[in-house]
Amino acid sequence: MKKKFIDLMKKELQEEKRFLKEILAPLAREIKNNVYEIRPPLMGEGDFEEREAKEDEEFGNRLAVIEKLKERLDEVNEALKRIEKGDFGKCQSCSKKIEVEVLLANPAAKFCKKCLKKKL
Ligand SMILES: [Zn+2]
Repeated sequence: MKKKFIDLMKKELQEEKRFLKEILAPLAREIKNNVYEIRPPLMGEGDFEEREAKEDEEFGNRLAVIEKLKERLDEVNEALKRIEKGDFGKCQSCSKKIEVEVLLANPAAKFCKKCLKKKL
């Protein structure tokens, strides 16, 4: 794998990492402060219980989004570690080279096309 290509992948991964951290920070803070609980019920906003159920659902959705973002951040961090180790672009399943187009679509890709297909 060419150094120039790896440098490009590294740059993309670092950018994605920064982006993920930027959107994760306020979301995590919001969950921590649990804004849904401290916000007093508003008058005339419809059925209170119904509103509460809706907020629970929103809260759950938000947690699910955060989980997804964290998973992606882990993947990105792992890929950056593989670059440091000189292991970048190696399929984690069969140890063969991951195709360039796969890496271009997802610089944090762990598997080659063949192994990816097997996993689907
Ligand atoms: Zn493979």
